[in-house]
Amino acid sequence: MTLHQMHATLPAFSGAGERRALLAGITFLEVTDSDRLEVATLARWFEEHVVASGCMPRLSVVLEPPAGSVALRPSGAALARANADLPRLVDTARARVVGALRGLVTVPSDDRFLRAAIFLGRVRRHEGRWIARPEPTAPLSGIVLSLFAVPLLSERAFYERELCVCEVCGRVSFDRATSSRGLCHVHAARVSALHAVTQAPASRRRAAG
Ligand SMILES: [Zn+2]
Repeated sequence: MTLHQMHATLPAFSGAGERRALLAGITFLEVTDSDRLEVATLARWFEEHVVASGCMPRLSVVLEPPAGSVALRPSGAALARANADLPRLVDTARARVVGALRGLVTVPSDDRFLRAAIFLGRVRRHEGRWIARPEPTAPLSGIVLSLFAVPLLSERAFYERELCVCEVCGRVSFDRATSSRGLCHVHAARVSALHAVTQAPASRRRAAG
C-alpha cells in the first residue's frame, strides 16, 4: 500500500487540525517502519508535522528515555553518531506508540495513554478543540501519542468503530468493515489462509506445505 493510498483511507474529520494530527502520527509510523531510517528523515517529519503545525518549537534533540537522545541537525562526526544512535531510540518510541494504540483495540480497552496525555498537558482544549502541545522535553513517543490523541479524543466514536492496530506489524489503519481490529489487511489475509491450510485434510496440507 502506498502512502497516498493509505492517506486516502484516513477517516474524514470535521476539523483540519484533527486530520492533520492523525496524518502526523500515521506518517511517523510509516517513516519509522524502515531499517534504513536516517536522522534527516526524522528531522523532516518533525519539521513538517510538528513544527509547521505549531505543536512544538524546533528542537535540536529528541529524547526517548532510557534509549537516549538524538540530535536532529547534527553535522560532521556528530551526524554518524546520530544515525548510529537513531535505531534504538526510534524502535523504543515506535514500540511504545504502537503498544499504547493497541490498548485501544484490545478487550477490555486500555486508554491510559489518552488520560496521561491530558494529565501531562500534552493535549488540551483550545477554542473548543483538542490540540497537541507536548513540552520540549517530552519523549518522542509522548509527542507522537499526543498527536494521535487529538483525533482520538475529538471523535472517540470513530476509533471505537474503525481503528485497527496490527499485532504482527504494528500498522495502524482504519476499516469499518473488518472483524479483526488487531490485524492489518495483509496479516488478516495470511491468518485466514493459514487457517484454511490447517483446516484442510492432511494430504492437501502436505501438498501445500
Ligand atoms: Zn500487519
